[in-house]
Amino acid sequence: MAASGTLRAMPLALPLDAHLHTDLSPDAAVPLDAYAALARDREIAEIAVTDHIDFVAGEPAYRFADYERRLRMVRNAAERWAGEPAIRLGLEVTYEHAVEGVIAEYLREHAYDYVIGSVHMSSRGPFRNADTAAAWCAGKTPREATAFYFDEVEHAIRSGLFDTIGHLDFVKRYVQPHLGPFEHEPHADTYDRLLRALIDSGTALEVNASGLRQEPGEPYPGPVVVERFRELGGERIVAGSDAHRIEQFAFGLPDVYRAIGEAGFRELTFRRGGTGTHGRTADRVAIELSRELVAELVGGET
Ligand SMILES: [Zn+2]
Ligand SMILES: [Zn+2]
Repeated sequence: MAASGTLRAMPLALPLDAHLHTDLSPDAAVPLDAYAALARDREIAEIAVTDHIDFVAGEPAYRFADYERRLRMVRNAAERWAGEPAIRLGLEVTYEHAVEGVIAEYLREHAYDYVIGSVHMSSRGPFRNADTAAAWCAGKTPREATAFYFDEVEHAIRSGLFDTIGHLDFVKRYVQPHLGPFEHEPHADTYDRLLRALIDSGTALEVNASGLRQEPGEPYPGPVVVERFRELGGERIVAGSDAHRIEQFAFGLPDVYRAIGEAGFRELTFRRGGTGTHGRTADRVAIELSRELVAELVGGET
């Protein structure tokens, strides 16, 4: 099995990267055209721009870029690149239960092709810096240290506002330096609760490659969780690199597709706009994983 690093210079021939940050995110500085050029080179057929938006004053992506600007940037680029790659207007919403009403109202009033809901580490939370993280983790089990995060994720899922949930277990990055490698077993029932909530609400599971370039060294979530999702009856799944820099574009994406293929999924679930927030389920599209791709990912067992 080739590591993602060795695949970086080769065409990837993957259908979708559904999670990218451009210079309209406060923590990224990549012009959209740079991603589009690489996507064309590497044969990634479709990309979604999913810049950050925060709904709590004082957080970095609070009123960082307005809707008109996001829309103009993406639609102009989509026209210039003429479908190679296809470019979609997405958004990554920082979900906080306390502002769910405000988020819902915003999404009712602004049409995006595709919306990710993610729980991030806020500047008011326990993981705001190394000292507060160490203090928070001291004397706690991994379950105790992460319960607040997974509870918020469950609220995000059950809100029904999002096409997918970004980096489901991103919290493992933050506890690992204090509590050691994040094991699946002590959290198995937590994962089951979240995976069942995804299935019940029709929300897709995102397999996010950024964990491969960060301390956990596996996607958010890892292959065991992707497999479990399938076992529980999960059908909707999507893949994203979550690049914030140009060199992160598609990094780890083949590994993410492999986890998806090996778990038995043969299509991704995506949305390309449609009737708006409340039509989300109806507007879902399936993106088939070709037989060739599946054969390459799982070694010929289709
Ligand atoms: Zn995120
Ligand atoms: Zn992101």
